[in-house]
Amino acid sequence: MQEFVYTAQSVRVVFGVDVWSKLNAEVGLLGARKALVLCTPRQRPLAQRALDALGERGAGIYDKAIMHVPLDAVQDALAAARLADADCLVAIGGGSTIGLAKALALDGALPILAVPTTYSGSEMTSIYGITEDGIKKTGKDTRVLPRTVIYDPALTLKLPVDISVASGLNAMAHAAEGLYAQDGNPVLALMSEEGIRALAGGLRRLNRQADDLDARSECLYGAWLCGTVLGNAGMALHHKLCHTLGGSFNLPHAQTHSIVLPHAMAYNAAAAEPAMQRIARALGDGSQSAPAALYDLALELGAPLALRDIGMRAVDLDRAADIAAAKPYWNPSPIDRDGIRALLQRAFEGLRPA
Ligand code: NAD
Repeated sequence: MQEFVYTAQSVRVVFGVDVWSKLNAEVGLLGARKALVLCTPRQRPLAQRALDALGERGAGIYDKAIMHVPLDAVQDALAAARLADADCLVAIGGGSTIGLAKALALDGALPILAVPTTYSGSEMTSIYGITEDGIKKTGKDTRVLPRTVIYDPALTLKLPVDISVASGLNAMAHAAEGLYAQDGNPVLALMSEEGIRALAGGLRRLNRQADDLDARSECLYGAWLCGTVLGNAGMALHHKLCHTLGGSFNLPHAQTHSIVLPHAMAYNAAAAEPAMQRIARALGDGSQSAPAALYDLALELGAPLALRDIGMRAVDLDRAADIAAAKPYWNPSPIDRDGIRALLQRAFEGLRPA
């Protein structure tokens, strides 16, 4: 028998095509008068459609969201929100845009309505990160959890396949670690397995045909499930390693996740047998080990497989292992510096786990 405590986080989820017909009413349900729309420069046309849909409730667009939420961008956006007299934020984009909204919600107490356009799952968590002087500080605060999330698969039709794959594998990492989390529970386990299954199937299909709406829908459904797991369960070695590699060696976030995950899973496999069985089953027929099946999926999807191919330098592997092993944290297998160094070597070379 598994004992557990589960406090489910409350987010209103609206899933379906045509966000534009729902946006204004959903902002109204939050009791808001004026919503500022946040986006990256590249997604300005989408933000403009959101602003048009908001009509009288639109307060303007802030289009300077960038990766890793630099503090000066937060201050600039907060000033824009105050100038526009906004009492709500509509974040339309991926984890970078939603991350900016979270930082504003923390400082300015503004409720967030998120419209995710990638599969990385940030919209379902109260985890935030802000980068100051090159160091990304992360934290958890219920104030940053979006109050409403509108999932519209049609918005992801134009998400380039490589970013789709990377952000989808990033989401699977949340579910994989959720399955062996110390504070996991049976409901999160169901969500994890189903999330991995949906994303693996959806990504395979959109890799063959990028504008397959059904495939996009399956991926977004998987992203929701995996994001929910990230929001409710503690993460372990894999997320710690990716945070180290991204923060200290400036590697791209989602690609780092997709490369490291099979190796982090292999490190934990012996200590997390039930989780591995669920993951292997979700990825296919269960005849292969979960780490090998995940590696093969990444290969099939054309994702990068080796850290050396995304900018990691061999000379930095020792330091990365030192940082990742320095502070103790819970993990199914004990954290051992030499074991992590060996894991990083395999991920650096892109070797297939056993
Ligand atoms: P992203 O938000 O960085 O977007 C990547 C690029 O894709 C951007 O240039 C963006 O403009 C573009 N893009 C996004 N959607 C698009 C679409 N539908 N069509 C065309 N282009 C599109 O990507 P991401 O992987 O979602 O987010 C990564 C960031 O999110 C990282 O900083 C990571 O730390 C954070 N994150 C946070 C959490 C959390 O819970 N706090 C969870 C996952 C990721």
